[in-house]
Amino acid sequence: MNMPIWDDRTWRPLPKLTGTQRADVCVIGLGASGLAAMEELVAQGVSGVGVEAASVGAGAAGRNGGFVLAGLAKFFNETVAQFGEEAARAIYRLTADEIQRQAEEMPAIVRVTGSLRIAADAAEQADCAKHLAALRYCGFAAEPYAGPEGEGLLLPTDGVIQPLHRVRAVAQRLRTREVRLYEDSPVRKIVPGSVVTEKGTVFCDSVIVAVDGRLEQVLPELAGRVRTARLQMLATAPAPEVSFSRPVYFRQGYEYWQQLPDRSIALGGFRDHAEAEEWTQVDFPTERIQALQE
Ligand SMILES: Cc1cc2nc3c(=O)[nH]c(=O)nc-3n(C[C@H](O)[C@H](O)[C@H](O)COP(=O)(O)OP(=O)(O)OC[C@H]3O[C@@H](n4cnc5c(N)ncnc54)[C@H](O)[C@@H]3O)c2cc1C
Repeated sequence: MNMPIWDDRTWRPLPKLTGTQRADVCVIGLGASGLAAMEELVAQGVSGVGVEAASVGAGAAGRNGGFVLAGLAKFFNETVAQFGEEAARAIYRLTADEIQRQAEEMPAIVRVTGSLRIAADAAEQADCAKHLAALRYCGFAAEPYAGPEGEGLLLPTDGVIQPLHRVRAVAQRLRTREVRLYEDSPVRKIVPGSVVTEKGTVFCDSVIVAVDGRLEQVLPELAGRVRTARLQMLATAPAPEVSFSRPVYFRQGYEYWQQLPDRSIALGGFRDHAEAEEWTQVDFPTERIQALQE
């Protein structure tokens, strides 16, 4: 079944855009980024309209691993090497604080559990030591870890999220403030002064494109400069025979899993086993990757 484990099917669809709307800004895509943009527009007192091709969180924002990890995609020691200590420290602080803030604001949706980075071999174990040293040097919490998952690092300020509930909660909050959000309204064209969807048009001064996968369809001028990747996951039935209290990031993040409150496991990865095939706009899982995950 190609449906995220996060979907409890309680969502009441938002209207489709028909006819015309006028706003200062049109936001395209209602995933985590587009909704964050809409919230910021509200905070700044700027009028906005949000349009979504499918439904809120239909993209990766509502179909991901549910890990909330401080810092950037690269490990902290690599971020320091790339951007320098001051920038790496500021980004890590900002993101760790944001995880904490969201956990306080939405405790049923975001939980600070800590995360485990587990090494697959001696080389990764050595990188874990560098990762630990860099975090501690900059004053961030991190501990060496050895347990049933393997050996590596414990990062106590990380956590987990119910990603689809989170974006839906943000959309609901915006709706209670009468912010205009439309689902089932794929953007067909962006022209100066307007965004044209399947059945409507938003006249606006500015456009924010908050689309991750298939960005090259929305902005064809980016074709060749951006490309879409497929990442695959699967979920199990409740598995009371195993117990993982924290999300696990294994083999440089090429394998990852977490156990949910109902004891089922959400797991993903193995993209590196079929890298060329995974640069695709097709979002259906493949037998090869699913077999590795199983
Ligand atoms: C399998 C997987 C696991 C991941 N695990 C994690 C994780 O554990 N932790 C983490 O932090 N990150 C994870 N990520 C990455 C994370 O999910 C993404 O970086 C994030 O969701 C991007 O959010 P977004 O709002 O920018 O884009 P999206 O979630 O892709 O939202 C863009 C929206 O734009 C809409 N859209 C597209 N085209 C149009 C159009 N023409 N008109 C209107 N709307 C359009 C889409 O339907 C979509 O809803 C994972 C990603 C994947 C795929």
